[in-house]
Formats: sequence, C-alpha cells, structure tokens
Amino acid sequence: MTITVNDYYQTGWREDVHNCPACEWKGNSRQMEMELHDEQTEYACPECEYPLLVVQHPDLTQMQAAAAAGNEEAQQQLAILAMAPRD
Ligand SMILES: [Zn+2]
Repeated sequence: MTITVNDYYQTGWREDVHNCPACEWKGNSRQMEMELHDEQTEYACPECEYPLLVVQHPDLTQMQAAAAAGNEEAQQQLAILAMAPRD
C-alpha cells in the first residue's frame, strides 16, 4: 500500500518506518529512492522500486500557515520563494 502524506509539515513522516509489501525491505524515507515531481515527491523501495510514500508538496497557504506557526523549514522555503526571480 502506498501512503500519501497530505500535510508536508506534519512531523514524523521522514522517520516513520515502512514495510515494503512487495519484498522484505523496511526503512524510512531517508533510505528510499526519491523522485521529485512538481506537485509531489514519491519515495520508493530501494530494493524493488515499489512506491511506498507519496508526499504532497505544500501550497503557499500551507507554507505561510506553517511559517506563522514557527516551522523553520516553511520559513526557509518562503525566504527561497521570495528570492526566486519572477517572470
Ligand atoms: Zn520492496
């Protein structure tokens, strides 16, 4: 089963240990194969490439809310966005 994380800023999803249903592998997202997309990041089993975790990227509203709540990662992301050149 692929687990979807809808709230990027919820704590713990990076460290949660997942059991691959397709092989014997288990581990957390840091050990998985990461594939970055525009809307989401997918994490797959490093042994068999079974997709284990899909993390939805935060939109600006979520980012601002998390930053206002004191989330350092969100604050850094907003700072990066503010520096990015606009068309
Ligand atoms: Zn696997």
